[in-house]
Formats: sequence, C-alpha cells, structure tokens
Amino acid sequence: MGYIQIAIDGPAGAGKSTIAKEIADRLNITYIDTGAMYRALTYKALISGANILNKDEIICLAKKSDIKFYQDNIYLDNKIINKEIRDISVSKNVSYVAQIAEVRKILVDIQRKIASSQDVIMDGRDIGTHVLPKATMKIFLTASVEERSYRRYVELKSKGTVVDLNEIKNDIINRDKIDSERAAAPLVKAEDAIIIDTTGLSIKEVVEKIISLLKGEK
Ligand code: C5P
Repeated sequence: MGYIQIAIDGPAGAGKSTIAKEIADRLNITYIDTGAMYRALTYKALISGANILNKDEIICLAKKSDIKFYQDNIYLDNKIINKEIRDISVSKNVSYVAQIAEVRKILVDIQRKIASSQDVIMDGRDIGTHVLPKATMKIFLTASVEERSYRRYVELKSKGTVVDLNEIKNDIINRDKIDSERAAAPLVKAEDAIIIDTTGLSIKEVVEKIISLLKGEK
C-alpha cells in the first residue's frame, strides 16, 4: 500500500500553509512547505549578492545549497531561517528564482524523495500537477486577491513587520502572474483537483471541509 499524499496548490496568500499545517496536525502526517524551499534559495541568492536574473549563477548556487524542510522548520545549510524567508525582499524575488527549470528539478527531487517514505501533505503551486501527480487528494485553494492581500497584511502586522497593504497586493498580483505564466510547471489547477474558494471562510471551516472530503474518499 502506498503512502497518503495530499496536494494543496493555489495562488499566493490563499491560506495553503495554515490549512495544510492544521490538517497535518490533525492527521498526524508530515507537512512540507515547498514555497519555503524556493524562498530559502532566494534568500541565499540575496545575501550572497548573486544576480537573481542570472540563471547560471542561481543554478550554481542551488547545486551548492542544502535546503531542507523538517518538522515545520526551513533549513538552509543546516541553519533555520524561518523568519528570514518571510522578508518582503524574498517575496519580491522568489518567483524569478522559481521559474528556472533546473532549480525546480533540484527541489522537486527532494520533495518527491520525502513523499516516497511517509504520509505527507504538501503545499505549493505544482504539487498536484507535477510533484505528486498521483496524489490521494488534490485541493486547489483560492480566494479573492483583496482577501488574500488583507490576510497577508494582518499576518505580517501581527508579527510586528511594518507593511503597506498596497505593496503586498502588488507583490501578490505580480507573483501570481509570473507563477502562472512560466514555462516550467506553472501554477494551474490539476484536472482532478477540487477547488475551494476560501473567501469569507474561516480556517476551521476550510480544514473541516477538507477532512470531510478525505473521509468521504475512504
Ligand atoms: O507558497 P509561497 O507563497 O511561500 O511560495 C513562494 C513562491 O515560491 C511562489 O510565489 C512561487 O514562485 C514559488 N513556488 C513554486 N512552486 C511551489 C511552491 C512555491 O514555484 N511548489
């Protein structure tokens, strides 16, 4: 018998990681935040002064980096960088790094390896379409861009970060555009994914909805 694989995809700020983490706790399975992995490499590129738009430089950096997501922490070369990867400078640059096919291959190999030995819930942009095409269940989470921006604004503000709502909205729109239009594994709903529009729904409501969908599958 294979392992459980739950794929959660969708645009920026749709609530994927909050929901996925909650479901992982409820089902006692492993949560993998694939966006954190792309962010980790972007952070490394920024602090090492690499040119984000220089593909070869970024690929070279990816080959030399040790990126792991383990027990809710993102590790870069054995150092936890949970806070650093949430900086707006990382958010603004990550989609350029993530559109490089060779970078994706390196990170996708790591993601598939994790899913080959345990039950997982993975969130990202290409999990249902590319990373785990045979996933047990595929969910595509969306919400209006206004709501997604506002949620991110509240989240960052609660962590003490000074942010501008408009800047966040523009970043989200820009990232969604690059993520959806790139050639390598773009952000798109898998044919067999279930769409959940979370606009106006609470975290608890979305979690319950997915849990009941899962129960119905068995
Ligand atoms: O999920 P999060 O918003 O943290 O992801 C940051 C960025 O990483 C996305 O905007 C996208 O460019 C990239 N990403 C991706 N594929 C994934 C997960 C994230 O391209 N599976």
